[in-house]
Amino acid sequence: MIVKPKIRGFICTTSHPDGCDANVKAQIDYVRSRPVIANGTKKALIIGASMGYGLASRISAAFSCGAATVGVIFDKPGSESRTGSAGWYNTAAFEKYAHAEGIYAKTINGDAFSNEIKEETIALIKKDLGQVDLVVYSVAAPRRTTPDGTSYSSVLKTTGESYTNKTIDMKNMKINEVTIEPATDEEIFNTVKVMGGEDWYEWISCMKEAGVLADNALTVAYSYIGPKLTHPMYFDGSIGRAKAHLAETAKKISSEIDGVNAYISVNKALITQSSSAIPIVPLYISILYKVMKEKGVHEGCIEQMQRLFEDKIYVGGIKTDESGMIRMDDLEMQPDIQKSVSDIWEKISDENLMECADIAGYQKEFEEIFGFGIDGFDYDAETDPEIAIESLK
Ligand code: NAD
Repeated sequence: MIVKPKIRGFICTTSHPDGCDANVKAQIDYVRSRPVIANGTKKALIIGASMGYGLASRISAAFSCGAATVGVIFDKPGSESRTGSAGWYNTAAFEKYAHAEGIYAKTINGDAFSNEIKEETIALIKKDLGQVDLVVYSVAAPRRTTPDGTSYSSVLKTTGESYTNKTIDMKNMKINEVTIEPATDEEIFNTVKVMGGEDWYEWISCMKEAGVLADNALTVAYSYIGPKLTHPMYFDGSIGRAKAHLAETAKKISSEIDGVNAYISVNKALITQSSSAIPIVPLYISILYKVMKEKGVHEGCIEQMQRLFEDKIYVGGIKTDESGMIRMDDLEMQPDIQKSVSDIWEKISDENLMECADIAGYQKEFEEIFGFGIDGFDYDAETDPEIAIESLK
């Protein structure tokens, strides 16, 4: 099959198996260029392991710490006529490279919110690893069906007042004004159900009960805070309520579940499948990229996750801020970076868009998520969409 990108809004409905493989390989090569983390995780479970921050966490765990990993993903394989999801191809490549180096890696494909997948994962850990010492929770989902069969959908809205600001229409390269309406109480409740900490707590308590968590096991979930500019629609918005619940859940896990330490890592704003769907944020990210690249402090998912393990977690005591959160957004939130971003935000328009923001970088990274736009690749060549994930064969 010859595979081309088919972009609809903020989704690409195709993905390139070899391009995804090259992305994973590049992340492994980056991790390999860093010092080995000798006292890092030895056995890890990554929930939401196929894309973005979860995939990068799995790569750092495996290739920097040498950890055996179980990954929970929710992805589709390719067929003769359709490409699989990028997460499927990423996972196939990850396992291929891990197994080639004799690193244990197995994957469970299914809905992380379900009891069945929790049970299947726990059974696999019991059988193959006994226990894990690290659980990363990196699920970003638009909806969740709870075990009683009720479905909840999350929304990206404000709470309280509506909010108007600039956003970018990437298709037409225009800056538009967008007004984000406030979420209803029910929408906020549902967003917390999907993106809050309830499912994370479920995972950890089931795992504890089943005896598959090592003594002093660590669990980390990811959050975002960002600057005032994005607060009405992120930090103070419906998703922010879910993230507040996630932070409360970290405290609840640490205090209620014996021998487990739970942390929130506040990560940098980055282009992933999930963040590209949030109004206002993509314009903020493309300005942020411009500023951070110019100052030489830009990082992608893998640089963030490698630094999380290297500098914040496996350093003989976890480094947090005064509220107990790990701050991987430390560089993004530096006052000089934020000052430059807000100065640009004030003056950015259709006329100066290309010089004020890293639009080319944004678009390239967006395509790369799906394995496209990689330099030196022949996208007119035939490729096999039916790539298997070795442990799921
Ligand atoms: P992503 O879309 O790149 O990855 C999300 C992962 O969750 C994918 O692997 C997906 O397959 C998996 N997933 C979704 N539903 C699932 C389900 N039902 N069962 C199993 N797996 C499922 O997203 P991301 O940006 O890496 O986000 C991961 C976490 O990081 C989220 O909590 C997000 O809020 C947080 N975060 C993201 C950013 C950012 O800018 N991208 C910044 C800070 C924090």
